[in-house]
Amino acid sequence: MNKKLFIPGPVEVHPEILRAMSTPMIGHRMKEYALLHKGVREKLQKLLFTEGKVFLATSSAFGVMEGAVRNLVGKRCANFCNGAFSNKWHDVTKRCGKEADAFKVEWGKPVTPELVDEVLATGRYDSLTLIHNETSTGVMSPLPEIAEVMKKYPDVVSIVDTVSSMSAMKIPVDELGIDCCLFGVQKAFALPPGLAIFTASAKALERCRTIEGRGYYFDFLEFDASDQKDNTPSTPCISHIYAMDRQLDRFFTEGLEQRWARHREMASMVSSWLTGHGYGFFTDPDYRAVTLTCATNTINTDLAMLKRLLGERGYAFDDGYGKIKGQTFRIAHMGDMQPDDLKEFLGVIDEILPAL
Ligand SMILES: *Cc1c(COP(=O)(O)O)cnc(C)c1O
Repeated sequence: MNKKLFIPGPVEVHPEILRAMSTPMIGHRMKEYALLHKGVREKLQKLLFTEGKVFLATSSAFGVMEGAVRNLVGKRCANFCNGAFSNKWHDVTKRCGKEADAFKVEWGKPVTPELVDEVLATGRYDSLTLIHNETSTGVMSPLPEIAEVMKKYPDVVSIVDTVSSMSAMKIPVDELGIDCCLFGVQKAFALPPGLAIFTASAKALERCRTIEGRGYYFDFLEFDASDQKDNTPSTPCISHIYAMDRQLDRFFTEGLEQRWARHREMASMVSSWLTGHGYGFFTDPDYRAVTLTCATNTINTDLAMLKRLLGERGYAFDDGYGKIKGQTFRIAHMGDMQPDDLKEFLGVIDEILPAL
């Protein structure tokens, strides 16, 4: 049976998007592709509030997370880590042969502007990685405050992952001064996995020119050269790009303000439901992601059983990630999900819970 997804990625994909993905194929060196590419880039610039470069990469998020490190880390990288994905990013940075230090924050807590300030003030780093929304723990770090701190260190290139937040809330890339903002599309964007987006500021591109060993597939300078011809260095996932084009139109038709408000509404529905049932939260209210909620299993629900029974009814449920599996569970509320979908899901859990 096909399960309706309430897990934090991949998320449900709208039928209109699936239809857009079956658009007849074109060649990526044809004029048709250049038009599609240019249109998508311009719509992404509008969504990201940037006038800078926006590139389309055929990979999942980790492709560009690795690419960004290979292109932008010169002297030494500060990896801010507060969960599974950010920890992994440190590992990836080291595996790329880069000098890097992990600054670890307890799971469930945000990366703070104070920590970023303290680390950058050492003068040891020319780059940093930060995950805006740590999807493993449902924590959103305070990006605007961190961005203010970053402005004190103009020699540091900032690489920020917004995989599970971009489009669900306002993230004005230029105003924040993010040098490389990157994300995959199977979470907040509600597209099938396989496409990743990244930006590069003038400072980021300048840095690339000084870095050796950028490789080819994710060489930012190759992306830049191709993009000037409305193209990509190698064959892109054209079907995905059609889907992205349609999805961006859908975002603007709904209205960005409305889209952000819908996410806030769904986050608040889940938080009331959890509180009403006696569950706790893995994160303080100020740092809870708007796209997913990580609950603590304070009333000892048999989460494995809940997951099984929900599965039998046609719903995919997440019983925690990595080392906090079982103690926590996550409910996603992002993408094209509507408050009514969430109501339906929580209603089914309510029917199952008394039998557990
Ligand atoms: C899912 C996720 C990733 C990893 O994405 P892949 O598409 O599996 O490469 C990275 N960062 C965050 C914050 C995520 O939520």
